Amino acid sequence: MSSPEPSTLSRRSLLTRAALGAGVLASGLSLDTALAAPRASTTLPRARKRVLRLAHLTDIHVQPERRAGEGMAACLKHVTELADKPDLILTGGDHVMDSFEATFDRTKTQWDVFSKTWAGGMNIPVRSCVGNHDAWGWNKAKSKTTGTENNWGKAMAVDMLKIPARYYSFDQAGWHFVALDSVFPNGDGYLGKLDDEQAEWLDADLAKVPKGTPTLVLSHIPILTVTTVVYTKPDKDNNYKLDGSLQHCDYARIKAIFEKHNTVRLCLSGHMHLIDRCDYNGVTYLCNGAVCGNWWKGRHRDCDEGYAAINLFDDGSFEHEYIKYGWKAETK
Ligand SMILES: [Zn+2]
Repeated sequence: MSSPEPSTLSRRSLLTRAALGAGVLASGLSLDTALAAPRASTTLPRARKRVLRLAHLTDIHVQPERRAGEGMAACLKHVTELADKPDLILTGGDHVMDSFEATFDRTKTQWDVFSKTWAGGMNIPVRSCVGNHDAWGWNKAKSKTTGTENNWGKAMAVDMLKIPARYYSFDQAGWHFVALDSVFPNGDGYLGKLDDEQAEWLDADLAKVPKGTPTLVLSHIPILTVTTVVYTKPDKDNNYKLDGSLQHCDYARIKAIFEKHNTVRLCLSGHMHLIDRCDYNGVTYLCNGAVCGNWWKGRHRDCDEGYAAINLFDDGSFEHEYIKYGWKAETK
């Protein structure tokens, strides 16, 4: 195509800006980001290119009972046999039914089922984050722990999942990935949040992301979700009080970090065993159900046993779908 006359150029430029603006609204990209992206000499926006396909498997909750190992194996088989096979698996926490209140032996039994099933059925690279049920012995009375054991808390999960630390980041296919540790003790329970050390690290980590590189954040507990309301009854004054163990209680702090660096496009979570999508302030938050559904007792409320498949594109956009793998749970 030859270069347009200057008068045509300015009009076309305006039209392109308008067209880009419309497309940008659909993709979740900011207009400035889209205009800053390199383009060919044509005035039309270039076609986006898929750079990575991933599967997000969260809340597996494996255990020896209720054929959970078989269910997990069925899910892994389904993922590896997809006609459009993922390049990467992300697991979103709560890999075992529960180690929070379990003894060492019971915890080890569950991780043994997890490791054996994973090794026998998965040949796709995996990156993981830790969930509340992966933290061993935080309820000291029930788990019969003192807190001084070598593998106490998240250490055993970090070891079993072969992740570099309880939180970390990496780069792949032109995207930056952050895996967060969103679970902290609160009496005999826990809260969804970042500790100060991690929040400062996140700020510094995102500061290093080159301009124009989209970022995906993986956490167990949702940073932002609408599903908390599903589990919450209004109080006597008809007000909802959101439980800090259901979603991050430090959303404002995380939002400020995201806003400061403007690189995060997509956040993935689990924990709720429900499916939702929130688009807020330029970031999409997906809560992606549960592999175990109702803890291996079938469908949980509005959510079947399943996992998400997500395509990432070079312009920071994405596509996602929730895939049921057809598990028939024991009904008794
Ligand atoms: Zn769970």
